[in-house]
Amino acid sequence: MTRTPKLSAFRRIVVKVGSSLLVDSKAGGLKKAWLDALVADLALHHKRGADILVVSSGSIALGRSVLGLPKGALKLEDSQAAAAVGQIALARTWAEALGSHGITAGQILVTLWDTEERRRYLNARATIERLLDMRAAPVINENDTVATSEIRYGDNDRLAARVAAMASADCLVLLSDVDGLYTAPPATDPNAKLLPVVPRVTAEIEAMAGGAASELSRGGMRTKVEAAKIATTAGVHMAIADGRVDHPLKRIAEGGPCTWFLTPSNPVTSRKKWIAGSLEPKGVVRIDSGAAKALVSGKSLLPAGVKGIEGSFARGDCVLIRNPDGGEIGRGLIAYDAGEAAQIMGRSSRDIEKILGYSGRAAMIHRDDMALGGE
Ligand code: GLU
Repeated sequence: MTRTPKLSAFRRIVVKVGSSLLVDSKAGGLKKAWLDALVADLALHHKRGADILVVSSGSIALGRSVLGLPKGALKLEDSQAAAAVGQIALARTWAEALGSHGITAGQILVTLWDTEERRRYLNARATIERLLDMRAAPVINENDTVATSEIRYGDNDRLAARVAAMASADCLVLLSDVDGLYTAPPATDPNAKLLPVVPRVTAEIEAMAGGAASELSRGGMRTKVEAAKIATTAGVHMAIADGRVDHPLKRIAEGGPCTWFLTPSNPVTSRKKWIAGSLEPKGVVRIDSGAAKALVSGKSLLPAGVKGIEGSFARGDCVLIRNPDGGEIGRGLIAYDAGEAAQIMGRSSRDIEKILGYSGRAAMIHRDDMALGGE
């Protein structure tokens, strides 16, 4: 049998918490004791040096009980209002719980466009990266107060998978009210078996996912398997586990029931493949031989090593990187618009603020946003 991954081996873990785990549907409040136990698990990983990101649902479920909205499906404006009320309490609770372990929380609310549109994707990713640099824990949810039906994820399973990919995480754990993927619906089929490992999401696996969502959460098994597809193609291992127990991450680490979806690649390699293969370059950056050497040895491209700029590209676009002899050395997502890049080329990164009037990124193309010929 394929071996299951070890939670303690991951360096960047995203944990998605479903609404039904966090919000007490009868009493209406947050399940504080449960959350504290989960945060204690997260803190252990943080302490051993792993980066921690939380994707937390619950704003709508929480807000609707505070506002006394009726049970059942909500109208869009009601769920937006509920989210506005619930998100405040949700964020405060996470901040306090993480804070009690000395971990600073940072709230990030995203919409579909923030993960699907390249420029905004880069902005959101840079914020997440900066928070993690400072050892803070991003706490993420969809910005449900502004998201309308055409522009929303609606479920945090797929959102969490996109966030995990965006943050180059190596592990995503979806905590919900099921302990994994079964060969058939366990409620109706006594022969249904839990699958401990799914090496690849095939059509057969997708067929096992069926439909079914609980009252509080929008995502059933189907959105979880869709999330697995997104995560595993981006180099992220993913687990589905039952979060209804105390210390759910400890339980996974101890070999408790769950389903692992394995990825064949690692996150950085997948992004580089995506950069190398699927993007239409919008321009060219010519570099000097010193910069070419630096890139080959694994460094980012700084403005100082740039000799020329061609094309009209925008920040976040893919550009070709050419050697002094004109050969293509690689491609990358550039951190500046063409006009700005032309102004700062050949200059020290320290001068960027003076030249452009704002303090931009030190690198013109960051190492992680670059694919060289051999990668
Ligand atoms: N973003 C929604 C909320 O926080 C939840 C979506 C989901 O349940 O997956 O209420």
